[in-house]
Amino acid sequence: MVLKASLFANMKEKQVPCRTRGCDNTWTWEANDQLRWMGEGKDDPPQRMCPQCYAKYNDLSEMQVPCANDTCENTWTWTKVARLAALKRGRTEPPTDRLCNGCRDQAKSVKGLDVPCRVRGCDGTWYWTAEERMAADGGTDTAKPPLRMCEKCYDRFRHLRDETVPCRIAQCEGTWLWTRRMQLETPADKGNEPPRRMCDDCAAIFSELESKEQPCRISGCDKTWTWTRFMQIEAQRFGDGQPQPRMCNACFNRFREFSDKEVRCRIGGCKNSWIWTKGMQLEAAAKGRVRQPRRMCTDCMDQIAEFENKEISCKQEGCDGTWTWSTEAQLSASRTGRKSDPPAKLCRTCKQFLAKTTTQTLTCQKCDTTITWTKEHQLNVKLGVWSKPTLCADCRRAKEPAASQQAQRQ
Ligand SMILES: [Zn+2]
Ligand SMILES: [Zn+2]
Ligand SMILES: [Zn+2]
Ligand SMILES: [Zn+2]
Ligand SMILES: [Zn+2]
Ligand SMILES: [Zn+2]
Ligand SMILES: [Zn+2]
Ligand SMILES: [Zn+2]
Repeated sequence: MVLKASLFANMKEKQVPCRTRGCDNTWTWEANDQLRWMGEGKDDPPQRMCPQCYAKYNDLSEMQVPCANDTCENTWTWTKVARLAALKRGRTEPPTDRLCNGCRDQAKSVKGLDVPCRVRGCDGTWYWTAEERMAADGGTDTAKPPLRMCEKCYDRFRHLRDETVPCRIAQCEGTWLWTRRMQLETPADKGNEPPRRMCDDCAAIFSELESKEQPCRISGCDKTWTWTRFMQIEAQRFGDGQPQPRMCNACFNRFREFSDKEVRCRIGGCKNSWIWTKGMQLEAAAKGRVRQPRRMCTDCMDQIAEFENKEISCKQEGCDGTWTWSTEAQLSASRTGRKSDPPAKLCRTCKQFLAKTTTQTLTCQKCDTTITWTKEHQLNVKLGVWSKPTLCADCRRAKEPAASQQAQRQ
């Protein structure tokens, strides 16, 4: 009695973890029970449930669950302990992937399979176990493997988070969800960049649109450019619904090859230049014009307004015609700084007369020598300034020596 009492004195009751997997509770191991347990030579404390688990355990009953193999009618037993453990993890329904004992035995003759990872672009595999295959087709090798990730992908998948990405339409503030699955399937060379996508609102409009051909904005070009569905959405949702003027591809490519050119002002004597822009060159090319145009510099364009066309008397004696001193010619004269007086010029009628007339051959009335009758002389005769020659120079001089000076004006 004394011995026993002293033993009891050293023994204290203990809190021992509940045997149910997933349960954090403890049960109380009383001192006398510990003593008895040790007396039987056992070291580890007994496997027991906490009072709550035990109460639940008593409410539960074993369950017969159909075999996961659809072609099998048998069942397997979901024990009270297993049910309790499942309950602790919040599961009330039996697992659906378990085989009956018979099927489990049969699965030993079925081979597991390495199946390609479901993630596009991944060349990893996952292992389809014999039991899973058995459950899928009863060992007949007819079922296709399910879609699953390899371990590596699954691991990445677990660490990824769905991301909200802005709509690809420039001015749209909508977003779309870049899911973990989509991220996983983004090819490695694309890094972590989300693809360009539209939000749902934009996508809904997109599906009802068709791309349209639009005329090139370069006048003279009869090609077209494609008004894409994306551009149309932008125009519809955030613009006036109309396409922006654009160049066709051919013009655009040509445009890039061109460069602005400095061209000398067309006004004679002006040292300025003007810029023949790429756009102007492109329009010229589209109209089939290859030569560089002749234009005035901006200074000349401003100053030419100060001039007016002037009618100037023909320089030909006896002619009362005029010629037009153009504003451009006047500007040019002022640029050279030479003079403000008009040059001496023939009127159009006189010019045309000289152009049409040919030099004539006459015969001297006195000595039969040949006389050359120049065009200029003919003009003077036509206008009544001089008279048509009848004598050669020698005969004329012999007749009127005083007039020889005038004769040389021919
Ligand atoms: Zn418990
Ligand atoms: Zn079975
Ligand atoms: Zn994978
Ligand atoms: Zn959008
Ligand atoms: Zn074009
Ligand atoms: Zn100029
Ligand atoms: Zn004239
Ligand atoms: Zn003569």
